[in-house]
Amino acid sequence: MRRDTAAIRSLSLRLSLHPLRRALAAWFRRAARDLPWRRTRDPYAILVSEIMLQQTQVATVIPFYARWLARFPDFATLAAAEESDVLAVWQGLGYYSRARNLHRAAKTVVNSHDCAMPRDPALIRALPGIGRYTAGAVASFAFDLPEPIVDANVARVLARLLDLHTPIDSTAGQSALWAAATVLVPEKGARICNGALMELGALVCTPRTPRCDKCPIRSHCAAFANGTAASLPRKKPRPKQAELAEHCAWTISRGRVLLEQQTGARWRGLWKLPALPTAPHTTPLLTLEYPFTHHRVTLSVFAQPARSPLREHFAWHPLASLPGVPLTAPHRRAIENLRSRACQSAG
Ligand code: SF4
Repeated sequence: MRRDTAAIRSLSLRLSLHPLRRALAAWFRRAARDLPWRRTRDPYAILVSEIMLQQTQVATVIPFYARWLARFPDFATLAAAEESDVLAVWQGLGYYSRARNLHRAAKTVVNSHDCAMPRDPALIRALPGIGRYTAGAVASFAFDLPEPIVDANVARVLARLLDLHTPIDSTAGQSALWAAATVLVPEKGARICNGALMELGALVCTPRTPRCDKCPIRSHCAAFANGTAASLPRKKPRPKQAELAEHCAWTISRGRVLLEQQTGARWRGLWKLPALPTAPHTTPLLTLEYPFTHHRVTLSVFAQPARSPLREHFAWHPLASLPGVPLTAPHRRAIENLRSRACQSAG
């Protein structure tokens, strides 16, 4: 730990910051991918891309990003939209709380900032759902302000650059990484420097086998010099995942499926298969697993007869209209699986 702190302190002395930044910038101009959100300085579009890229791969995000901007081109349009429309356009990306926060952020920008993203990083960070990383990304990518960023890619690059052995998901590790990112980001050209660190982590300084032979900053890298790159970054041991069981009903009538709309914080506004209080004494039609925070959930779906009257928050949905219904991701997976089985047995 003392060694890591000393490494950060000596960063500006030990590393030649100017040559390091120059090497990053030259490589970025030469090798960076041409991604749609890199062609704009519009803070709204950059914010949308950053929120979508949380927990989702670049290739998956690209079509969703284009579709979102076509439907909600600016803060005003998004702020005026119904939440059901926002969730429907987000559908397929999962983690719907991101869409809700984006919607709330748009309303705040419209109501409190005259429809324009504030330039002050503290005000950006005060918007709903925006943390330190996203605020730094918007401030540097849209306004070229010297704000540091640390995401998973940047954390890996910095941990190796410094030969940092403290777990990067610990408080001490995070504070070391943010301190290093703050030292590294230049007064002018933060957009390029931050973009280069992220891109280097995505393309060269990759998790399992860093391509040090292709790395533009190899001569600055302490892990490369010490032969420790492949063993970094370190993370805290993961707690064992708790097991949860979820039992749901598959009730079909005249080409419609019975769904239940969620009102709790977890999936508010989304539809799912109706929950059963206990597991029936029959064989489930389908069983699948999905992760949820620190849990591994086993979802079992049982055939159930239709009952009337319908309970509150329950509704019949035509099977043909399900692509336009905001469903939770695991329940969409279950429904698609059951429908394709039904088609196969009918065919
Ligand atoms: S030299 Fe290797 S470990 Fe160091 S930053 Fe480059 S790719 Fe990563």
